[in-house]
Amino acid sequence: MIRFLSRFQIFHRIFAECKEYNLPALECPSFVFFLMGLINMVAMVSTYFIARRYTEPEIVALMVIGVTLVILIIGHTITQSFDKLAQANKMKTEFVGVASHQLRTPLSAMRWTLNLLMEGRLGQLAPEQMNYITLIKESNERMIKLVNDLLDVSRIEMGKVVLRPRQTNLYVLIQKTINDFMPLSKASNVNITLEASETLPNVYSDTEKVALVIQNLIDNAIKYTKGKGEVKIKAEIAGKCVKVSIQDSGVGIPQDQQKHVFQKFFRSDNVMKHQTVGTGLGLFIARSVVEESKGKIWFESKLGEGTTFYFTLPVYSL
Ligand code: ADP
Repeated sequence: MIRFLSRFQIFHRIFAECKEYNLPALECPSFVFFLMGLINMVAMVSTYFIARRYTEPEIVALMVIGVTLVILIIGHTITQSFDKLAQANKMKTEFVGVASHQLRTPLSAMRWTLNLLMEGRLGQLAPEQMNYITLIKESNERMIKLVNDLLDVSRIEMGKVVLRPRQTNLYVLIQKTINDFMPLSKASNVNITLEASETLPNVYSDTEKVALVIQNLIDNAIKYTKGKGEVKIKAEIAGKCVKVSIQDSGVGIPQDQQKHVFQKFFRSDNVMKHQTVGTGLGLFIARSVVEESKGKIWFESKLGEGTTFYFTLPVYSL
């Protein structure tokens, strides 16, 4: 019974996959692969029985050639299906790249105009007008971040990430990021502390990209802490690297979803309920930046207790 059920599940999974990719069965790699296995078995068994009846080697040779041909044709179909999928994936990545690039210009123009309005250079605004403009500005900033993240993701997928590594002072970078997040952390009732020596050695990495990694990790630590909380940041030397940890007392990540955390567009169930803002792209980008810089990134998390993200970057040496 269990075997029958698991076989049924295999069929179900194969067809679900074809449906997900929106491919007809005969172009769907998993189905064609399954079909090839089936034809292979039938061909082998029939060859055995026919070869038992007709002992002439010519007939057996012809049959083996026939079976090989069938397998070759099906193999070709499978390769073509994979080719199509890979091409569609490439086109999707290119489209996302082009669309994000094109969206950046009008969004930046909107940002400049909003800044002019908010600074009163186009005339003084009434308080209520200012409130609305502030809301538009926040949405504009969110859209710019999303577009930049999508552009980064398409670059990562096309293998076009260009890092410009140089001496980077992590202490200064973390301290600056904490200052930038001060208004948000105060508003969210989250206290941020930093434990690091000012004499921490420089690391060798792309300063701007690493700044984005730190911003994302601190932003998450604040964003995913409900109510009053603590974020403890620590930077220390660990062998030939500097190790940074960002510990929060937030909602945590469910155990069964932890394996997906660095996948793009992933957002855990527990955060979706109370934090609607988020794209699930930050950690995917962070991992790419850290790993391209020859560092490591990982985390520990307990649901309802908190999360600690760690990353290392190699110390700069002459
Ligand atoms: P975003 O925060 O925009 O959703 P990220 O890639 O930065 O995207 O994070 C992916 C997901 O990982 C989040 O949606 C959340 O579910 C989980 N996550 C990341 N950091 C934390 C954290 N500090 N505490 C709890 N969950 C987290």
